[in-house]
Amino acid sequence: MSASSAEDRQRLEREIRRLRHELQQAVHALPHLRQMVQFSGDLLILAGAGGRILEANGRLAEALGVPQHALYGERLQQWMPNPGQVRLLEERLAATADPVPLRMELDLQPLQGEPLALELEAHPLLQQGEGEPRWTLALRDIGVRRQLASSEAARQVQASLLASLGTSEARYRALVSQLADGLGQIDSGTRLLFANPALHRILAVADGELQGRRLLEFLTPQARGAFEQIWGAVLAGQERRITLPLLAADGRAHQVEMTLQPPSPGETEPGSAPAVGLMLRDVTDLTCALDELTALAFHDPLTGLANLESCRRGLEGRLAQAGGHPWLVLWLDLDGFRRVNHSFGREVGDALLQAVANALRAWAGPSDLLARLGGDEFVLVRELSGPAEDSLALGRQAEAVLRQLRAALSQLPVGEEMAPMALGFSAGYCLAPLHGQQVEPLLQGAATALSRAREVAPGTALAYEPTFTTRLRREMELEARLHQAVGDRALRLVYQPQFDGSGCLLGAEALLRWNDPTLGAVPPARFVALAERTTLIHSLGQWVLGEACRQLRAWLDAGLQVPRLAVNLSPRQFELTLPPLVDQVIALLKRYRLPAGVLELEITESCILPVAGVTAAVQDLAALGVRLALDDFGTGYSSLSVLNRLPLHKLKIDRSFIQHLETSDAARTIVRTALAMGRGLGMQTLAEGLETAGQLAVLEALGCDAYQGYWFSHPLEVEAFAALLGAQLAGSTEK
Ligand code: C2E
Ligand code: MG
Ligand code: MG
Repeated sequence: MSASSAEDRQRLEREIRRLRHELQQAVHALPHLRQMVQFSGDLLILAGAGGRILEANGRLAEALGVPQHALYGERLQQWMPNPGQVRLLEERLAATADPVPLRMELDLQPLQGEPLALELEAHPLLQQGEGEPRWTLALRDIGVRRQLASSEAARQVQASLLASLGTSEARYRALVSQLADGLGQIDSGTRLLFANPALHRILAVADGELQGRRLLEFLTPQARGAFEQIWGAVLAGQERRITLPLLAADGRAHQVEMTLQPPSPGETEPGSAPAVGLMLRDVTDLTCALDELTALAFHDPLTGLANLESCRRGLEGRLAQAGGHPWLVLWLDLDGFRRVNHSFGREVGDALLQAVANALRAWAGPSDLLARLGGDEFVLVRELSGPAEDSLALGRQAEAVLRQLRAALSQLPVGEEMAPMALGFSAGYCLAPLHGQQVEPLLQGAATALSRAREVAPGTALAYEPTFTTRLRREMELEARLHQAVGDRALRLVYQPQFDGSGCLLGAEALLRWNDPTLGAVPPARFVALAERTTLIHSLGQWVLGEACRQLRAWLDAGLQVPRLAVNLSPRQFELTLPPLVDQVIALLKRYRLPAGVLELEITESCILPVAGVTAAVQDLAALGVRLALDDFGTGYSSLSVLNRLPLHKLKIDRSFIQHLETSDAARTIVRTALAMGRGLGMQTLAEGLETAGQLAVLEALGCDAYQGYWFSHPLEVEAFAALLGAQLAGSTEK
């Protein structure tokens, strides 16, 4: 999976967790709110027309010294001994046309004892429609305030008391009105008795216009059926929660989670209609997010193809199909994709992956299973025909599929800048039931065959063989040991001298050696390639550069003049690393006080493919005064324009041409041309792997400048090379 799609997914998952958390909190809020009302320090009343008590909390009953149920249906005025206050209150509560909040002082006479001095704050609730107007009345004790009002100190106490009362009240009101969830009460006919602003919002009804309307009006016919199934239980006193679609007044559909909470026993006056608590949580976004998450869980967001998980499931389903058909499970990996990403950036890389996915989709049949497994790896599962035992025929079918795939991918609309890079792929495949009948062994086998193909012949496809698995395990072990070796410094450099035709020492190439305690000497061609397949190449490359520079300084300090030391660079060392390659070189030259010209860096032709940043890095290195050699010339892809653009000092003609110089006209022609070209571009030419006097004679005649090979010297250990340097020094002083 690409980094950006992984980030998207994490963000979505976080969002869903947050929504879930909010949802749970809101669901729990309803009983808490009821509790808050019940045990609030204030005396709280939901009053109907003329001050009739519809709901009241325990504090009111307590203050008046009557049982709570005795309050319902009574009028508050009954306990008000002051006729002036009664008048004022009734006047205000009767103003149905344009009710405004009311704040007044008010005395209540409990059943026993002294009258209570209270402050009343009344707020109109929903007042439109046929239903009677409702008021919330909050009464708070101001007896203490009255008693203390005379003294200065008392005023301060009063102020702080008032402030805390004010905050608790504001908090309560804010909670109900600002809650994102719809809160309300409905009667047994689902008529709304109360609704907070959020409930209005969800149902798209103007503020205050919900009262008296039936909740059922807002349910789709199917949702109504589901609702009616639980409604009986709610009326029988059980809390229920249900997720259903709801049709708001503006015609928009929402997915809501509805919690219905029956009144607790004792809250309802015998014979009166129960008020059921209603909480509506709009989960439309959550539902969409969950759908999206489900889609994400089974699809690759970049290409829309199935991902590994759904590939597994799809393959499982196919294998389970009756009929025992043979299946092809093919795993492919695009060649050079990493370079595209590094050179042209992720956007181009993503566009290329999408183009590949589209081409595969266009090519695939309806029953094929196609998946992208992240990065540049794709899987194809296809049903083959014929008997499952005829492995030869099945192999032929697989080959045909591969040919078609190559054709499909060769016509990709890749950008002009990528033109020199043909988009090929390496692949590995398994046949079911030949190689397995279960999902995991088949996918594993195809992956193993792919890594083998990538290793031995990139760009080709291999059928799975059991020996691959053993090899792969060995490779993994080797990789682990190499990791260890880099850390333990179980590595060393040897030095192969380079000479001119007269045998004069021109310099040396540092070559890496690894001697593993159990495996013995592992050839660099093997472990360097292994390191290149992982990020290990970065630490390995850094170690080689550092070690070569350290050794150069040691020789110089010992009075030995090294004309030049070449170090091999892997193409991957040009990838963005910390520190970048150029900075590593600058730091080493400084640290070991080396003249830049003594260091030569060997790059291969594969480095100079259009990899963004390489040209700049090579130019920066040349600007430092470091010399650059093109290694293994002739074995890779290089165009004259690229050679011309890069500030190269040396052309190293690959050993494969030198080897056949005496026997092959073609090899001679190639070498002659290469030498002419190098000369033409002002480069020094060097023949690699020179083994015979005959080869030397041909090369001398063709005008080659320098030689490296067993004819002159094998790679030498540090001490042996120091001795050679010493001998050269002695020779030159003798002359
Ligand atoms: P290369 O850079 O082309 O190195 C030359 C290889 O040819 C060396 O093999 C050397 O021992 C071998 N050679 C030299 N003269 C003769 C000859 O006359 N006959 C034959 N048959 N071979 C000769 P070596 O050391 O096994 O290295 C193989 C490759 O491994 C190198 O090829 C280079 O590509 C890579 N390598 C070695 N050391 C390093 C390193 O420090 N860093 C990186 N990135 N690659 C390295
Ligand atoms: Mg080399
Ligand atoms: Mg070479």
